[in-house]
Amino acid sequence: MDRYDVVIIGAGSTGAYLAKHLALRGHSVLVIEKLPKTKVGTKYDIFHIEAREFERLGIPRPVRGDAAWAFEFEKNYNADPLTLYPKCQINHIVGLHMHEYTLLLNAEAEAAGAKILYSCEFEDFLYDEQGKICGVTAKYRGREKQIEARLTADCSGMAAVGRTRLPADYGVENAPLTDEDIFYVILRYVTLADPKDYLEGSTFWAYYKSWIAPCADPHGAIIGIGACHSFDYAESVYAEMEKTVPLPPYTLEKTERGRTPYTRSPYSMVADGFFVSGDAGSLTKSVNGEGVTSSMVQVQLSVNTLDRALKLNKTTRDYMWEINKKYNASQGAEFAMLRALLVGVVNAAGFDEFQYAFESGIISDELLNAMNGAPVPAKTILTALKGFVCGVANKRLRVSTLKAAGRALKNAVEISSLYKKFPSAPAGYAAWAAKADAVYERIGKIR
Ligand SMILES: Cc1cc2nc3c(=O)[nH]c(=O)nc-3n(C[C@H](O)[C@H](O)[C@H](O)COP(=O)(O)OP(=O)(O)OC[C@H]3O[C@@H](n4cnc5c(N)ncnc54)[C@H](O)[C@@H]3O)c2cc1C
Repeated sequence: MDRYDVVIIGAGSTGAYLAKHLALRGHSVLVIEKLPKTKVGTKYDIFHIEAREFERLGIPRPVRGDAAWAFEFEKNYNADPLTLYPKCQINHIVGLHMHEYTLLLNAEAEAAGAKILYSCEFEDFLYDEQGKICGVTAKYRGREKQIEARLTADCSGMAAVGRTRLPADYGVENAPLTDEDIFYVILRYVTLADPKDYLEGSTFWAYYKSWIAPCADPHGAIIGIGACHSFDYAESVYAEMEKTVPLPPYTLEKTERGRTPYTRSPYSMVADGFFVSGDAGSLTKSVNGEGVTSSMVQVQLSVNTLDRALKLNKTTRDYMWEINKKYNASQGAEFAMLRALLVGVVNAAGFDEFQYAFESGIISDELLNAMNGAPVPAKTILTALKGFVCGVANKRLRVSTLKAAGRALKNAVEISSLYKKFPSAPAGYAAWAAKADAVYERIGKIR
């Protein structure tokens, strides 16, 4: 039997980041990864990180010429379904190759002292006499391997192989994601036919949850679409999008498909001897389903607690509970609020109303930049308010849509303040969860 302080399932970005930080604090860490090293991080090619995140999270910042670097851009347009009134948000984005970047993070974890065992697949948990998780069994080179650990972290991505294998009532929700909770993403890598169309930024069409963004080839682009339910449904929305959005002429080079969680994270992310992070804990952003940095944020605010729990030999649900409190009161509350707003507004507003929101200035450059922390000028708020009033008067906005937006706002405020009052100890959890469930019932799921 092998013995470590921590065993982490999965050497994706989250597992590698967690491994590095626990190893740096002197713990013995083993990461088991079912894929060989040559395949890790190959689920798709290009992903984005906001430039400001590298420093905040202390992760490597590739530059032009590095294997992981693909491109950078600053202009992020948001457009109406007809693309007549695009609005621009300035946010420096770095495009990276997922495989190469994952290898960088793996190398950082190893340099910090963690061991990564590739081609080693988690199978089940080991339990001690009290029924507490004390490690894992895994398949390695055709043989069962037992690994004892005081903490097991599930960072296995969408598969959530650890979380979904937890016994009922172990302390972390164990239900697998349903199709309603998954964003099915289709990426078309294309070459643009006309040099005048070469991209200097990205454009996002919220109505279709679709976008066009740069790719590693400066003459190319990635046209993406994401939708809940299924890839077929995403393709049907893409077909609708092509009817109104004036996409530049292109030649299709290749298509990639992937899935990302689009649902709330479990209310509790810790249990006796267990911690969940990354896609395994649905820690993706509610605005776009991106999860690389948001998972690292959760790891960052968990590491001190995990470190102390390991040092004091108290890797129990009760001792690690403060992770839930810290997470739910910060990023958890923010994501919950945005989810409530988005689901309410996107589900209610029709094509013409989206069109009107861009045309009237309800959605403006200033409003989009405010999402990145820029101050919102009073004039922007006045223009938006005028847009609402005129929209109703001119019948460009339905009263029912405004009412739905009002309900979404109320749900958003309610769920966010509930998250901020997450109980400090497990004692108050059941009552809190019942209240949160009731608000989520009202929020519903994105169509
Ligand atoms: C098409 C697409 C585009 C995206 N674009 C972005 C983007 O631009 N920016 C962004 O931030 N996010 C993006 N996301 C989301 C992002 O990819 C994920 O949130 C992120 O990769 C999750 O990292 P992770 O380490 O939690 O999981 P993963 O990267 O999935 O890693 C999990 C690891 O666990 C391993 N594993 C699974 N089962 C087992 C087992 N039984 N035993 C051992 N190991 C196991 C897997 O092989 C894998 O290596 C995108 C998602 C998709 C689908």
